[in-house]
Amino acid sequence: MRNAVSALEGSRIREVANEGLGREGVLKFWFGESDEVTPAFIREAAIASLHEGETFYAHNLGLPELRAALATYTARLHPTQAGQGLPDRLAVTSGGVNGLMLACQAVLDAGDEVVAVTPVWPNLVAQPLIMGAQVRRVPLRPGVDGAWGLDLAELLAAITPRTRLLVVNAPNNPSGWTLSADEQRAILAHCRQTGTWILADEVYERLYYAPTANGCAPSFLDHAKADDRLIVTHSFSKSFLMTGWRLGWLVMPPGLTDAMGKLIEFNTSCAPVFVQRAALQALARADEVTPALVAHLKTCRDTLVPALQALPGIEVATPLGGMYAFLRIHGQDDCLDVAKRLVREAGLGLAPGSAFGPEAAGWLRWCFASRDTGRLLEGVDRLKRWLR
Ligand code: PLP
Repeated sequence: MRNAVSALEGSRIREVANEGLGREGVLKFWFGESDEVTPAFIREAAIASLHEGETFYAHNLGLPELRAALATYTARLHPTQAGQGLPDRLAVTSGGVNGLMLACQAVLDAGDEVVAVTPVWPNLVAQPLIMGAQVRRVPLRPGVDGAWGLDLAELLAAITPRTRLLVVNAPNNPSGWTLSADEQRAILAHCRQTGTWILADEVYERLYYAPTANGCAPSFLDHAKADDRLIVTHSFSKSFLMTGWRLGWLVMPPGLTDAMGKLIEFNTSCAPVFVQRAALQALARADEVTPALVAHLKTCRDTLVPALQALPGIEVATPLGGMYAFLRIHGQDDCLDVAKRLVREAGLGLAPGSAFGPEAAGWLRWCFASRDTGRLLEGVDRLKRWLR
């Protein structure tokens, strides 16, 4: 086995989830997905496609009609991208995670230096490591209010001409931190000078709770030119309740598209056609699905976070984006142990912050994407009793 592979750490979230196996009544907030089923019309589109016999291999880069629909969708959300050759700069991927891996395969050689803003969803660090790259973490830091922030000067100083790739996820899983448009512009300008690629994970762009004209978090696509060294990862998982479908897409510079097609051939060959047909329907009715979902998630956030803030000894900020509350219990620094004990002793399933980076050891991530806000309050109640 390659050293880079044997050095990979197992998932600490799984470690906590395993603690809950066979235990009745555990409230599971540990994974990053809603407990809501995909809307029926999307499921029906997949079934119709299967009935039509669409069971064959298809285009590496995705169905032309889906790439066209994604181009329209992208240009609508990020008007500066209109007229910048979009369908040809898009690839349909088998989920956001596959898109991230493809991006790493496209730009990284063994030994390359990668700068990653952390804490972050562990795959974003593991994938460059699998490629044999060296990852340097630039940590976000929690402020007095529990909200995490970036030291922009520190990040820019870390990115030098030796840095092949910057990996950044905002809105951020787990901390809810978001990048401002000014920070994105500064990062983009700096990376143009150093020749560094940016891999921007924007799978949570639609799950944004501050009012904006396009309903999205600030995006690198709002400032980028087509041929910038920028790859943006998107996914149907979070904004269309389609985690199990494994479908996402990449926006990239035109010079990368052919290579991406080849890489897709060698990874998965293509995304399943019936899943892409379902995605076409999802996009066609995006204005129905996503805003309703975001309104509900905002209710979830506004139910959970104040209830947590009311508990003594809990530090937690109101996240602007994503679907996680990131909290710290004073005096409890071993979050993996705390997370396991919460499962065993309180029937409450949270993810340990250390899964997302050493700077988040001591924190716990609570996914608030729950159909029933009563479950969130029941969870807070269990935490309260456990703290006593
Ligand atoms: N990026 C981030 C930051 C995530 O949190 C996730 C999933 O939790 C993904 C990417 C991948 O999502 P998917 O592969 O389901 O599209």
